[in-house]
Amino acid sequence: MKQNKIPQATAKRLPLYYRYLNNLNQQGKKRVSSKELSEAIKVDSATIRRDFSYFGALGKKGYGYNVEYLLGFFRSTLDQHELTDVALIGVGNLGTAFLNYNFTKNNNIQIKMAFDSDEEKIGKVYGGIPVYGIDELTEKLGDIEVAILTVPVSEADAITEKLVDIGIKGILNFTPVRITVPDNVRVHHIDLTVELQALVYFLKHYPLESK
Ligand code: ATP
Repeated sequence: MKQNKIPQATAKRLPLYYRYLNNLNQQGKKRVSSKELSEAIKVDSATIRRDFSYFGALGKKGYGYNVEYLLGFFRSTLDQHELTDVALIGVGNLGTAFLNYNFTKNNNIQIKMAFDSDEEKIGKVYGGIPVYGIDELTEKLGDIEVAILTVPVSEADAITEKLVDIGIKGILNFTPVRITVPDNVRVHHIDLTVELQALVYFLKHYPLESK
């Protein structure tokens, strides 16, 4: 498949490109230059040109890239023609924010269901998404392969084990725990505290010069 040949670093930028091009398309724009793209999404234009060459999109000098062609490519590569269902585990403050956030606005990923252990939350609906008991995981998950993890630290490992046993293939982990999974499961860690600390550290120690 074409997709397999795209380097991982390029693949990570696909959703970014997709979102921006989708906006351009909605505004009725037919073409875009790598310079415009570069300024809008803050990726240097040489990288953009290299990335796009993997997609078979060759920009023409003085013309730029055809927005529709690129969108077509991204739609099929990012599986935008089909809806991907995701489950969320842990309906706390962060989890609730995700349930209320409408992911489908710009892409075809949706949180289909959520799980929690708190009797107060089970059976409720947040942002249109039902919350089931964590004990119902096996029964309810169906063919969902992606999970967002927003449980407390103390629960992260046990829940991960359960998810892996049931057949989850990807976990977006918002807990600070470096969960371990078998080789066939992919984990992306998003530790908001670490990210924030890093930003503050960089501001202090590597202040940016204003141009
Ligand atoms: P809140 O103020 O609602 O407790 P929080 O994000 O500070 O929010 P956490 O203690 O981090 O709360 O827990 C996040 C959510 O994970 C809570 O809704 C909690 O009920 C849920 N939770 C805790 N243990 C489990 C578990 N074993 N399985 C599923 N959900 C769990």
